[in-house]
Amino acid sequence: PADAPPVLEVVDLGVQFGALKALDGVSLQVRPRSIMGLIGPNGAGKSTFVDAVSGFLPQHTGTVLLDGQDITRLAPAARARLGLRRTFQQDRVPPQLTVESYVRFVTRECIDNDELTDALTFLGCPAPEERLSTVDVGTRRLIEVAAAVLSGPKVLILDEPAAGLSHDEHLQFGQRLSRIPSRFDTAIVIIEHDLDLVRTVCTEITVLDFGRVLAQGPQQEVLDDPAVIAAYMGD
Ligand code: ADP
Ligand code: MG
Repeated sequence: PADAPPVLEVVDLGVQFGALKALDGVSLQVRPRSIMGLIGPNGAGKSTFVDAVSGFLPQHTGTVLLDGQDITRLAPAARARLGLRRTFQQDRVPPQLTVESYVRFVTRECIDNDELTDALTFLGCPAPEERLSTVDVGTRRLIEVAAAVLSGPKVLILDEPAAGLSHDEHLQFGQRLSRIPSRFDTAIVIIEHDLDLVRTVCTEITVLDFGRVLAQGPQQEVLDDPAVIAAYMGD
């Protein structure tokens, strides 16, 4: 519901690399079971945002609250245990594993067989015994998302999970993604370049530009904002 307290709240986040303010006063709220799109031109600070919120990069200013709990000073593993999961922009799936052994590795085996098979099917992943070396890169990204989902996060942050998919696969991926929040009771923050996909799956959007929030709000409002359109035309 629109008035539910945010499951993830980021307040005044700032990250600097030397003199460069990669993020400058970025705030956002993610409601339970919503899908927030984080978009913006290359170099806008999207990956830096994910790294700082998930604890992989120290922030200079700001607070991160997960379900009301201040996690600002926690290490990445501690944030993950509390329910903040992220995937990476680069493919990190080790090819020698099977789908099942990889998912069990990520979830630390805390999942039974039926649940695992059901979830893989639901998300359109290959059979559990399939070797990761035999699937294409788009499918490996999907398996990465499945493993993260199966670890039972409160918030799942996906950094360009659909990179490497064809346009058709993209749309199919979007349909699957849309069903994750209600089925697995999780909120999603997704970084995505394809505005068609963003339009299909995201309920809210935050636009970053030069490390600042350029626009934020309900999906349609933001995508129709002239300042947002201008930022994209200039990309
Ligand atoms: P996006 O993911 O939106 O494309 P990034 O978050 O990767 O953007 O980068 C934001 C800005 O910070 C860019 O100007 C980038 O060059 C810079 N940046 C990112 N990581 C580092 C780093 N480790 N050291 C120095 N500058 C960085
Ligand atoms: Mg990036």
